Amino acid sequence: MEPPIRMSMGNPCALRAYYTITRDEEKDSIKYRVGKALEPVVVQMLADNGLDVYFALDDQLEIAHDEPYRTGHPDGLVHIGDTRSVGLWLAERLPPDAVVRFFSGETAVLEVKTLNATNFRLFRSKGLDLNNSLMRTYYAQVQAYLGTLSNPAYDELWESTLYRRLLQQIPRPTWALVVAFAKGSDDIAMHVVDFDREYFERMNKRLVREVTEPMLQGLVPAPTYDGKNDECFWCDYRQLCPAARGVAEDLRSLDDLPLEAPSSVSVADARTVSLVARYQSVSEALKELERERDELRAELLKLVPEGTTLPLGNGLAVRHTRSEGRRSLDTAMLEVLAQRYGFDLPYKRGQPYSVLTVTVDKTESESNTAES
Ligand code: SF4
Repeated sequence: MEPPIRMSMGNPCALRAYYTITRDEEKDSIKYRVGKALEPVVVQMLADNGLDVYFALDDQLEIAHDEPYRTGHPDGLVHIGDTRSVGLWLAERLPPDAVVRFFSGETAVLEVKTLNATNFRLFRSKGLDLNNSLMRTYYAQVQAYLGTLSNPAYDELWESTLYRRLLQQIPRPTWALVVAFAKGSDDIAMHVVDFDREYFERMNKRLVREVTEPMLQGLVPAPTYDGKNDECFWCDYRQLCPAARGVAEDLRSLDDLPLEAPSSVSVADARTVSLVARYQSVSEALKELERERDELRAELLKLVPEGTTLPLGNGLAVRHTRSEGRRSLDTAMLEVLAQRYGFDLPYKRGQPYSVLTVTVDKTESESNTAES
């Protein structure tokens, strides 16, 4: 018999699914250990509030299905034996559809997850949302447990005869109670996940086709993505993935780019540079003076009534008059007439003249700003 492989298989990438079910590196992670350390607290809280929890923690069971068989470890089986013993804490948190099912005597698979704040918020609002990569993995895991437990043909693969005997006494669970614990805020959220047979079978077929069949031939499945997909960003197996290695090589190849200094450009001589600097400063001063002049003018126009002349006592006077404005030809109208009657307008062209514009080198000024 081939060695058992793990059931978790929610990832759409064949290679990642292969590594997920064949490698156990997760157990070395602090995330896994923190999750395992907190799980008893959650299970005990559920038990203290009237849920009967079987096969949890040290009694956790290994279930298996398929050839070569795949194994998994549900966090327990739960039901409510005595509805009067349900504590307020649990009653406030159980989803209404879970209450109805428990109170009808149904048993559920228990799955406990410890989540960071972002994932917890997502779980609380949407449950195991298939649009989210992590939630999709959890959904696949729960479906694998429910699919295995729903089929007595798989019972023979299980290690525990006790478990098998229990399931012969009770209806087989067709739903899971997923309980999430928020690391950091100690919040709890719960959702019901129903068995989705179609999803389970589809996932199984894909896994057999893309992972277990190649494995039986001694092959490692090809990566589904090119190493740059969003899924790859969070993939724990990038180091082992030829596609992701290709991306890393692409990045490394930047080292091979010829880094030549830009060809030298001729720079103005010192006298030109100094004149331009003076020109700029005079232009700025002029702009400032013009702005001040306009403000003074507006102020004076208010103080000296229109049509009056005020002597200033030093031989000068200030006068406020109104000009009618210069009359000019309406060239738009003239152009219409010229077109209609077919004559050329005697436009006068002015003399060409020079424009001196001093531009600010943005690159340099930005880098000066960044350094200051
Ligand atoms: S890096 Fe991307 S392509 Fe490679 S195994 Fe991970 S998910 Fe698949």
